[in-house]
Amino acid sequence: MTAPARTARATGARPARSSEELIRAEDSSLAHNYHPLPVVVSRAEGVWVWDVEGRRYLDMLAGYSALNFGHRHPALVEAAHRQLDQLTLTSRAFHNDRLAGFAEGLARLTGLEMVLPMNTGAEAVESGIKLARKWAYEVKGVAPDQATIVVADGNFHGRTTTIVGFSSDPVAREGFGPFAPGFRVVPYNDLAALEAAVDETTAAVLIEPIQGEAGVLIPDDGYLRGVRDLTRRAGALFIADEIQSGLGRTGTTLAVDHESVRPDVLLLGKALGGGIVPVSAVVADRAVMGVLRPGEHGSTFGGNPLAAAVGSAVVDLLSTGEFQSRAAELGQVLDAGLSALHGRGVAGHRCRGLWAGVDVDPALGTGREIGERLMREGILVKDTHGSTIRLAPPLTITREELEASLASLEKVLG
Ligand SMILES: *Cc1c(COP(=O)(O)O)cnc(C)c1O
Repeated sequence: MTAPARTARATGARPARSSEELIRAEDSSLAHNYHPLPVVVSRAEGVWVWDVEGRRYLDMLAGYSALNFGHRHPALVEAAHRQLDQLTLTSRAFHNDRLAGFAEGLARLTGLEMVLPMNTGAEAVESGIKLARKWAYEVKGVAPDQATIVVADGNFHGRTTTIVGFSSDPVAREGFGPFAPGFRVVPYNDLAALEAAVDETTAAVLIEPIQGEAGVLIPDDGYLRGVRDLTRRAGALFIADEIQSGLGRTGTTLAVDHESVRPDVLLLGKALGGGIVPVSAVVADRAVMGVLRPGEHGSTFGGNPLAAAVGSAVVDLLSTGEFQSRAAELGQVLDAGLSALHGRGVAGHRCRGLWAGVDVDPALGTGREIGERLMREGILVKDTHGSTIRLAPPLTITREELEASLASLEKVLG
């Protein structure tokens, strides 16, 4: 045990364990539902993380966009600290003094009227599904228990039994049935197929404006506008899952903003908690959200004062447009940098704002292998599937840091 870098940060009485020891310990006492890169992070600031041996890495995954503002953004950490010293939990049995401001701010930011606060993304999706069904029975007049929701092939909306039931990923689904009925799956980015699947039973169309887990799949221009027009004509709700695409990532506050489309129901999560606490929300107009009455839905932690304080600080950060502009400008650097690698290890890529899916030439290795090689270069990324890796750095990344990470990618593919 000769690791001076470690003793400097030793905490408490327990002797610090090496990355290898910690990974071995996890292996025997932690469920194996993930296959992480072999890096054990113990400290972070901004776009950088450090492992327990003190090695530094640029975080190009950013917690699947939960860290849009980087690690420990000072304004968010300050909001959390201040709230920790005041009040952390009341449950919704009582009011708390932070919730009104959070709801007002988020409604203003998104251009919708009312907020239903939850915790994780999957809960926001589940809540959106419940809301749409209730709306279908009470407002649209769908016969009891007949409501359908149309979703897209290749979707990722979370991990609950209902949600994986309409996933098209066998790994996510198999072994977890029986599944909840009431969902129809159509190809993504195909308005004709969507039109054919929508009928008088349709409560909602639930889609990701950009499919993140599928490899940052960006639909054709006009698709989101088409979904909006089609759902309006059919008297169905348009639910946009912007849990990963929203809150600045694509260069606009929401990914639907690229087509100036306003969904009926917006699902947010990930970055809404500032990388500090899980915060998610369903946002909708009064005509929709109004169908929920006391006792019909809830969450012990949803809307807790700590979450509301951090969520409000996130809304404040986004209200100036500064992060959205950064993502748009640096997104062009990212896009151009990836285009320059076409034919040199990159088979193709899709990019919107600071968010890219990069198809690596399969001859060079799987996405996982590329991720491991990048890790050794001090860059952390995550593969999505096959030979596709996803790049989604914190929106606080500098141009120099972004260019350095592109240079590392070039080196690893060379
Ligand atoms: C991550 C994600 C979810 C699920 O969020 P959790 O907080 O992991 O439950 C849902 N939808 C999309 C688009 C996501 O990216």
